[in-house]
This record gives sequence, structure tokens and C-alpha cells, in this order.
Amino acid sequence: MTDLPRLAANTPGLPCRNDPAPFFSTRATDRQYAAGLCGPCPIRLQCASYALDNDERAGVWGGIDLTARVLGCGTVGGFRKHRRRGEEPCAPCLHAHEASVTADRLRRLGVEHGLGGTTRGYWLHWRLGEEACRPCKTAQARKSADRRAQARARAERPRVASVTSGAADVPRGAPEGVYALAAAA
Ligand code: SF4
Ligand SMILES: [Zn+2]
Ligand SMILES: [Zn+2]
Repeated sequence: MTDLPRLAANTPGLPCRNDPAPFFSTRATDRQYAAGLCGPCPIRLQCASYALDNDERAGVWGGIDLTARVLGCGTVGGFRKHRRRGEEPCAPCLHAHEASVTADRLRRLGVEHGLGGTTRGYWLHWRLGEEACRPCKTAQARKSADRRAQARARAERPRVASVTSGAADVPRGAPEGVYALAAAA
């Protein structure tokens, strides 16, 4: 088995010995940067085989980001693991997450289209960054028209203001006599 500690101690100028922080950072971008530093390392092969022989599960070794490998980077599971660890997902995990979200929206849009086009479908088109189809536009326009009609109806409804008589509240504008009994009580 490779005696990496001894080898590293006898190899001057190793970037991982000068500054190990990016090699074991929780930020994927730091580790990508560290992996780039391994490129010209004279003991790179020995470093990688040492890490594999010892089942290292974190950090960058021989230019390999073992943290990303353990997380399953490039998958939706990797994205969730980043989040659980409270760290920024790496680019491949972000990409996998976005692809999954888009696929889910497309699937849900198919359901809305099966219903003949809906306001939810209109919203899904918008989230997918595309123009809504005619049936979804029609459903959205119908909903907007209904809302406007309801708002108009609310605005036109006679306002009921109360006049305190002491015994009962008599709505202003109520037909004469209707509240006479209550007002007189
Ligand atoms: S390959 Fe990278 S981690 Fe391994 S000794 Fe060289 S610089 Fe350090
Ligand atoms: Zn990742
Ligand atoms: Zn549609």
C-alpha cells in the first residue's frame, strides 16, 4: 500500500499541504478548484490510489472529489444531500434538480391538458417559460372575467350603514316601517 504521508512529506510545494481548506471544503466550487490544483501534482496517482485503498469518503484526493462521489453528485439525490448538509448544491446537482422540476411540470401540464386546459395549466406554462396554449389562455381569461364581475358586483352592492337607535341597529335605506318595531322598543 502507498505510504502517502511519507511521500507527501518528501514532496515540496504540495498545494494540499500549503492550504488544505479547499480540499475538504463543504462548498463544491472550492473542491472543484482544489481538484484543479491536483493536475500537475507529481504524486497524483499514488494519492488517488491511497484514498481508494483507505476508502476515503470526503475531500479531494488525486484530483478526485470523493465528497461529490459519496453524495452522488449529478443526481436529484445528490441535490437533496447538499441541502440536508446546509451547503450550496454543485452545478451538476443543480442541473439534475432543475431537469427533474421541469419534467414534473411537464407531467402536471399534461394532466391539465387532459382536463381541456385550465388556469393551473396556464400557470405551469408560465413556470416553464413558454406561451400558454389557447385552451389554458381561455381558462385563465374566463377566471379573470369572473373575478372582475365579482368585484363589480361587490362595488355595486348597496352599502349598509347602521343608525344606532339604542335598542337595535337599523340599516340606513331599509324600507320604512320594517324596523319600526325594533327601533321603538
Ligand atoms: S494529488 Fe492533490 S491532494 Fe493528492 S497530494 Fe497531490 S495536490 Fe495533494
Ligand atoms: Zn453535487
Ligand atoms: Zn396549456
